[in-house]
Amino acid sequence: MKVLVAGWRDLSTVDMIGEPCFVIWLCGCNFRCPWCQNWHIVECFDCRWLDPQTVAERAAENLGLVEYVHVTGGEPTLQDKGLLELCKALKEKGLKVSVDTNGSRPEVLERILPYLNHMAIDIKAPLSEPDKYARAIGLPLEIVESYEIPAKVEKSLQVGLCNLEKVEIRLPVVPKVHEPSDVLRAAHEVEEVVGRTRFWNKAVVVLQQYVPSETVPSPFLREQPMTDAGLLQALAYKILDETEFTQIYIRAVDSVIKIKRNSFRKESL
Ligand code: SF4
Repeated sequence: MKVLVAGWRDLSTVDMIGEPCFVIWLCGCNFRCPWCQNWHIVECFDCRWLDPQTVAERAAENLGLVEYVHVTGGEPTLQDKGLLELCKALKEKGLKVSVDTNGSRPEVLERILPYLNHMAIDIKAPLSEPDKYARAIGLPLEIVESYEIPAKVEKSLQVGLCNLEKVEIRLPVVPKVHEPSDVLRAAHEVEEVVGRTRFWNKAVVVLQQYVPSETVPSPFLREQPMTDAGLLQALAYKILDETEFTQIYIRAVDSVIKIKRNSFRKESL
């Protein structure tokens, strides 16, 4: 069983909050987010089939420098059998494993749980608003409804919280796609799910800055500015005010900052 790989990076300090990691990009995705920043991977440009063992051996060369391997994409759970083999091989080499998912395949996450330590999951729009979810992920509403995508994303979040050491919950903030009120609503929904599981200590909430680039599939969104830093900061404070979360992270293009409750605030919504 091989995996379709776009590439890897020996060391990243921004792909996982608080953990330097080796990053592997797997090809293909079942979503078509018009603001996607990895479109060449979604469309499988420059991908190659590799033996999971070979990839794990390459990652293990970095043991000592990193403890974690972060498997991202694309959507890694689409290659369910290959992903399982890869996670197993990484674990056997003594590495910790993190998977970055859009949450649409909770059944695959459940299968790889024995080899997984950490998960990053995107909540791309309010889960209670399928029309907004459909718009954010670039799929027709009928598909989002018939595959019950928001319910599957919620289930994936629950599976991660109940079984893993940490779950990074990413809320993208893309100009002309997400209104501040959408992000707030999604944050409240996440709070409800985390509250149900009671694993507050495992949930790491991250606001994701959008950065336009030539590879973004939508020509309209390619022309938009990057998400305003003041807006991200104001949203972080608003979420801290309105929810039980005590800290929110903001991930910008090459840095991550943490905002804690009661810290000095510069902006308001
Ligand atoms: S789920 Fe992620 S990789 Fe897939 S299209 Fe959306 S942003 Fe791109």
